[in-house]
Amino acid sequence: MKAAIIGGGIIGLSSAYYLNQAGWSVTVFERGDLSDNCSFGNMGYLSPSHFVPLAQPGVVSQGILWMFDQKSPFYVRPELSWPLIDWGLKFVRACNTRNVERSARPMTDLLLLSRKLTAEWARSDEFAFEYHENGCINYYRTEKYEKGELETVRAGRDLGLDIRILSREEIHELEPELKPDVRGGAWYRDDAHLHPNSLMRELKSVLERKGVMIRTNTEVTGIEKKSGKINTLRLSDGSAWTGDLVVLAAGSWSREAARMAGEYLPVMPGKGYSMTVDVAHQPLKHPCILLEAKVAITPWEKKLRIGSTMEIGKVNDRILLPRVQGILEAVPKYLPGYTGDPAFREMSDLIKLKENLRSKVWYGFRPLSVDGLPYIGYAKKTSNLIIASGHAMLGLSFGAGTGKLVAELADGKPTSVGVSAFDPGRV
Ligand SMILES: Cc1cc2nc3c(=O)[nH]c(=O)nc-3n(C[C@H](O)[C@H](O)[C@H](O)COP(=O)(O)OP(=O)(O)OC[C@H]3O[C@@H](n4cnc5c(N)ncnc54)[C@H](O)[C@@H]3O)c2cc1C
Repeated sequence: MKAAIIGGGIIGLSSAYYLNQAGWSVTVFERGDLSDNCSFGNMGYLSPSHFVPLAQPGVVSQGILWMFDQKSPFYVRPELSWPLIDWGLKFVRACNTRNVERSARPMTDLLLLSRKLTAEWARSDEFAFEYHENGCINYYRTEKYEKGELETVRAGRDLGLDIRILSREEIHELEPELKPDVRGGAWYRDDAHLHPNSLMRELKSVLERKGVMIRTNTEVTGIEKKSGKINTLRLSDGSAWTGDLVVLAAGSWSREAARMAGEYLPVMPGKGYSMTVDVAHQPLKHPCILLEAKVAITPWEKKLRIGSTMEIGKVNDRILLPRVQGILEAVPKYLPGYTGDPAFREMSDLIKLKENLRSKVWYGFRPLSVDGLPYIGYAKKTSNLIIASGHAMLGLSFGAGTGKLVAELADGKPTSVGVSAFDPGRV
């Protein structure tokens, strides 16, 4: 049985891995060269802690306030575009307590499954990538954010997550070199982190060794159907693919890809930036999120990455410098020890120079669904099309688990976790 996957991000490659394991003959079509997509420059977090979907109460009013601050972590590019209006209206409608409550269990189940499967990859001889299981600490500096975080901690513990509230002194013991200037924090001990660039490179070579065909620089430009079934994919090099099953894992471009199959899938790109420097010595022991600033910091053995922002709008190449500066300026407020750190100084100096920004600032487009939950399941009108998209801020965290579910759905087997909440037909 032959399967084609549209898109070679973490979702496409994870799906290829488990479909190949289940005995499918798999071809991945990727229009880029698989050296850089959203799955590369992300923060590398595997986050069971992120069981609250992006569509939650308060996010719209906070977002509107932030739109007037050039350095804020959130921005909607105002434009008269139907995809944005359509997506925006549905997103606003989903920002309610009910969405948060009903999402928590399915999100947690898939996040934990995915975390377990990624740990299996990390421990197997097949793969070699940096992977750490020492949780993630969310730091707060204000009473307001402490209150909000304690509510999340309570909900997380109800879901069975291992979370510790830390005082400032306990944090100083965990981060003795940097002694964060914070009121306190929540340590999500089920979280893990890895180096996504290496994982993506490894996945590609593992898949190729297993006989998966990865066709880079090949865009799927057309989808032909007969009796509600895809029979042909038209490709940018003029050739065509025919087979039994298609998986749509085209990230932020999934709306357009779905339209080729006559399907409706509201996905908006949510641009984010990250900056990475090499470090000789790593003073930070745990990945962390600076809650008020919405900035994430990931320490690897020889690298440090800082990232943030959510710019909702069409895919574009612009780098909004004030937002990048906003990310860097937040760091010394929480981690004053970094001001003297050569790696951080180098990063700030490079950004100040404003030249060659593209070589210093990475950006990627998170595929945002309308309610913060991914779309995983069979398409409404196409019987051999599985959708795997809309993973928003959690594509890496959901990656392996999504791949496993795709393979189980393809074989008509019971799924490892419930999938009804992820049904693409819900929109
Ligand atoms: C700054 C930042 C930090 C992040 N940090 C984290 C994190 O710490 N943890 C986490 O879990 N997630 C994180 N994310 C989110 C995560 O990176 C994404 O959710 C994930 O990469 C999405 O993967 P994907 O495979 O769906 O999409 P992508 O990685 O974008 O891959 C989709 C691919 O499809 C290809 N494609 C599209 N259309 C076609 C076509 N017609 N034919 C052929 N190919 C096509 C594209 O070229 C692309 O390569 C972060 C994102 C950003 C921006």
